[in-house]
Amino acid sequence: MSKSKSSETVKVVVRCRPLNRKEESNGPAGSIVQMDLRLGQVILRNPRAPASEPQKTFTFDAVYDANSKQRDLYDESVRPLIDSVLAGFNGTIFAYGQTGTGKTYTMQGVWMDPEKRGVIPNAFDHIFTHISRSQSDKQYLVRASYLEIYREEIRDLLNPNHANARALELRENPETGVYVRDLTSCVCKSIKEIEEVMNVGNQARAVGATDMNEHSSRSHALFLITVECSQPGPDGRKHIRVGRLNLVDLAGSERQAKTGVQGERLKEATKINLSLSALGNVISALADGRSSHVPYRDSKLTRLLQDSLGGNAKTVMVATLGPAPQHYDETLTTLRYANRAKNIQNQPRVNEDPKDALLREFQKEIARLRAQLNHRKWRNKQKKEQVDGEGWERDEDGETEGEEDEEVEKEAEEYVKLEEQRLEREKDAIREDQFLLAEEKQRLLGEKERMMGDLRKEQEATEQLTAKYKAMESKLLVGGKNIIDHTNEQQKMLEIKRQEIAEQTRTEREMQQQMLVQDEETLELRETFTSLQQEVEAKTKKLKKLYAKLQCIKAEIRDVNDDHVTSRQELEQTQNELTRELKFKYLIIENFIPPEEKNKIMNRLTFDPEEDQWKFQPLVPAESKSLQMKKRPTSAVGYKRPISQYARVAIAMGTHSRYRAENIMFLELDMTRPSTASPDRSAEAEPNQSLSLDKGVCKSRSWCQTPKSITSSSSNISLAACHTATPTAAQ
Ligand code: ADP
Ligand code: MG
Repeated sequence: MSKSKSSETVKVVVRCRPLNRKEESNGPAGSIVQMDLRLGQVILRNPRAPASEPQKTFTFDAVYDANSKQRDLYDESVRPLIDSVLAGFNGTIFAYGQTGTGKTYTMQGVWMDPEKRGVIPNAFDHIFTHISRSQSDKQYLVRASYLEIYREEIRDLLNPNHANARALELRENPETGVYVRDLTSCVCKSIKEIEEVMNVGNQARAVGATDMNEHSSRSHALFLITVECSQPGPDGRKHIRVGRLNLVDLAGSERQAKTGVQGERLKEATKINLSLSALGNVISALADGRSSHVPYRDSKLTRLLQDSLGGNAKTVMVATLGPAPQHYDETLTTLRYANRAKNIQNQPRVNEDPKDALLREFQKEIARLRAQLNHRKWRNKQKKEQVDGEGWERDEDGETEGEEDEEVEKEAEEYVKLEEQRLEREKDAIREDQFLLAEEKQRLLGEKERMMGDLRKEQEATEQLTAKYKAMESKLLVGGKNIIDHTNEQQKMLEIKRQEIAEQTRTEREMQQQMLVQDEETLELRETFTSLQQEVEAKTKKLKKLYAKLQCIKAEIRDVNDDHVTSRQELEQTQNELTRELKFKYLIIENFIPPEEKNKIMNRLTFDPEEDQWKFQPLVPAESKSLQMKKRPTSAVGYKRPISQYARVAIAMGTHSRYRAENIMFLELDMTRPSTASPDRSAEAEPNQSLSLDKGVCKSRSWCQTPKSITSSSSNISLAACHTATPTAAQ
């Protein structure tokens, strides 16, 4: 499967949006973010710190300031990734940052405005343009899926019933990695179709949220595109390459306040940023390089991005910043986060001929339909030629392509037409035949009618098959066909030029960054001093520089410590809340649930590592259901329900239908006069009383028994107990 295997780091680019009107009018003037586009540096000013405090500088693969264009970001930082996906690599682009800093703007942008279209629509254009311009021996299949992770549940945005449907599960496949089970995927043949898929998903997202902003800042959206490409290899066989592209718009990274929430809200609050904090931990673990355990399994998002972070994928992270002074803390956190992600090493490789390639199945199905269709058409043609009286021999290889195919189709149609005409003629001849009996005529006409019906059915079946074949075939895109309008040469040249410029900018920046590093290193080597005084001056200067650096690092350590303290406090608080909730639940269990019931429940609980949660085992294991099922009591065999002996006798005797098959007994009053027990509980009254009591109780009698033989207690026999009690009573 692997062809070219090498290691490369996650590309990290930073983008800062312009100050918005509110920020301009509200806060202290000016942006706290400065950018050096040539060097790819971000310089952050702390608005609360004194002017003497050094500013923080971070270097990235590329930076985009408030004036940056969507197109520039795409050409420089995203285009190479999409090209890799089209060559069969896995690729991921994710936008990370505080709410309102332009994640959605960067990923989606303004669809209607060509200048403001984001990464996703540009990627659609790119993919389909590439297909239309590729060689004609290439076949493509493009599929799209759209999902969101909200409160740690995966929802399929392309499933019309997604609001009611169960949350989707994650599964792992050794070949393709982690995937979502039962996720809808739509085959797309053009830009328009894939845009439609995106729209449907976006609408589902909007419907699922009462407050769109609130919802989108808490849910992660993943748009997945799979591009399968089949091309004949040097060995003459068709090889398939599968590129998977994940376009991820993450939830807002700002800390959600968790104070004072309980119950459902607490559960939600603990889950909101679970995926994001897990993402942070995964990035830290990977960037550190020393930790052997990477906690991918801590959240749904990290599991889905497992390949993108430290695995088989090329990844671009776009960290978005807001320039307003009031968001300094969040901006700094984002920059630190992005800075760490730069160190993640991935091992991308081309996915060649994976077993689950859908394109292969499509090709097989198309070949099968084609063979079926050809067989039918050839059969019809053969029949026609027999009718015409011509000899006909089928080609040895049986292959029919292009024009020959059309010819066969025409001939087959002609055959059907001729056959119909012939049958009509024969029918007319039968009708006009004077010598046939009316009955015989009817029979022959019926036969011809049936033959015509068969012919029509046959034709319909062929038409259906043709339609199915054409529908299947149309799903595959063939290279070199004009599926978009603007593929003229000029446009192509323009795009190539733009790509070249982007490439140049990229290499220039890399070289600048390298030069900067080398300059610092070589400066001291070149230094020769003519006098002691000069040496002292130079070294003092250097000392000052190093001292400034030391101060920077000290400040950094302080900041990181503060950060840790804050997050630790938050975690402690969450832990306290959860402990309180747990104690409360224990209290209820201990005081209101009988221990044996509790034990039963506890015994049924098992931990599902896949789902990362506790689950109930079914009461009866699925495979041994038939064995464990209680046997039907013998008194119920052949009856609807357990039935008393009396009822059975009644059925046999055929008495009143009301009592048939029912365990109903006659309860008749004992009409002997009741005697009242004397209140005087003297010794001599005792036997008397017991006698009268015995008599005083209403005696019951089953309808088929004499009153004498029944005891009073039998009136209390319940329906369920009946069949166990009756054998003794019947004796
Ligand atoms: P997020 O998805 O991070 O919450 P949005 O993408 O919704 O943020 O952006 C918030 C607002 O800022 C939107 O109105 C958007 O148009 C604007 N915006 C973001 N980035 C830019 C940019 N680079 N240029 C111009 N406007 C931007
Ligand atoms: Mg957004």
